[in-house]
Amino acid sequence: MTQDTFTINYPAISVGTEKTDIIFYTSEETPNIHSILIPAGQQGRILVTDTTVIGLPVMQPVAKAFGVDATVEAGSCYRNGAHTLLVLGPGESHKTIENILTIIRTALDSGLQRSSTFVGIGGGVICDMTAFAASIFKRGARLELVPTTLLAMVDAAVGGKTGCDFESYKNMIGTFYPAARLHMFSEFLQTLPASEYRSGLAETLKTALLYAPKLFSILQNQKEQVLEREPELVRQIIRRCVIAKASIVEKDLTETGLRMQLNLGHTFAHALETCAGLGALPHGDAVAWGIGRALQLSLNVGLCDQEYRDDVEAVLEQYGWCKDPYHPVLEGKISPQDAGCLLLSAMKKDKKNSSSSVRFILQREINSTVIQEVDEDTVLKVLEA
Ligand code: NAD
Repeated sequence: MTQDTFTINYPAISVGTEKTDIIFYTSEETPNIHSILIPAGQQGRILVTDTTVIGLPVMQPVAKAFGVDATVEAGSCYRNGAHTLLVLGPGESHKTIENILTIIRTALDSGLQRSSTFVGIGGGVICDMTAFAASIFKRGARLELVPTTLLAMVDAAVGGKTGCDFESYKNMIGTFYPAARLHMFSEFLQTLPASEYRSGLAETLKTALLYAPKLFSILQNQKEQVLEREPELVRQIIRRCVIAKASIVEKDLTETGLRMQLNLGHTFAHALETCAGLGALPHGDAVAWGIGRALQLSLNVGLCDQEYRDDVEAVLEQYGWCKDPYHPVLEGKISPQDAGCLLLSAMKKDKKNSSSSVRFILQREINSTVIQEVDEDTVLKVLEA
């Protein structure tokens, strides 16, 4: 068995969080997923996943090990010796504090200790929630993550941000708590719905614009192979994203400076998700729209030139992302006339902004990023149709 492993090192937040080993598995290793996630002779573990992921072909060895039947319901719990499998509902609407408490209650009922391991297997929602629960369980249990969406592989599972939503605000509660180990099984991507795959590509685009011009040219010039999920290319994309993100989180794990750049497009995206209703559109689609707005704002405040804005808009268009100020997800909910003010107001409530000003991640060009406060009238201009 040849293992392709990459390690990220951090200042330790608590015991066991000083580094993340990222293991990229080959397709030959994938059928052994159950013995990788529940190694023989280890103390009890809690595996957390969702009702969609547990039914995926790659997960069948795990489902079989726990005797999961085809009609699994959200909230179901299964035992295999000292190990527990908890299956939650899928998607953003389940990223709740109640589900965090469900994970913790299940871990306690299973007799887990601080030295026990929590394993999150799923998209960004399951990874963020399992990591949050692990970080507060007895002040910090060991954590492993198995990202199963492209978004989770290139972004959510990497770099230690955990959390859940609260009262319609995204990621309002959470911690910084890196996983000890990330298991990358790229076969998971074969079953990912096209909209979710494209959603992950949006975070890839973000990373490309921030740090990886070569990745941007892959997105520009190899659209067919990227969308066909050509295995070697996808693996290369994931690796490039992980390495780029690692170089930032190693320097600034808790987002006191440099890491804020990773929020490119996110101030706009979170506002759109709040206005549209959480879960109304894939997170990455909101991020892609936000990137377009951030580049338009960069142009309007004189930071970037028209050519760069146009290059980015061309990629948004190529992959079917909205590049207009008014996002169609708002249709029937908020009129184009009202959208600008409501989005701006949601931005001001976002945790990353003080009440009197809105701070944005803007760009001069690829690989050249600035953090800048922008006045409300200028922001409104890029939100009004
Ligand atoms: P998700 O976790 O909701 O997954 C999307 C859907 O795909 C779900 O219904 C899930 O059941 C299903 N699914 C998962 N894997 C699958 C597979 N292999 N095949 C078929 N279906 C599959 O969404 P996501 O886009 O992965 O993650 C979004 C979340 O990630 C958001 O909550 C966002 O806040 C968070 N996020 C966190 C960070 C971070 O740094 N922690 C960064 C970016 C995003």
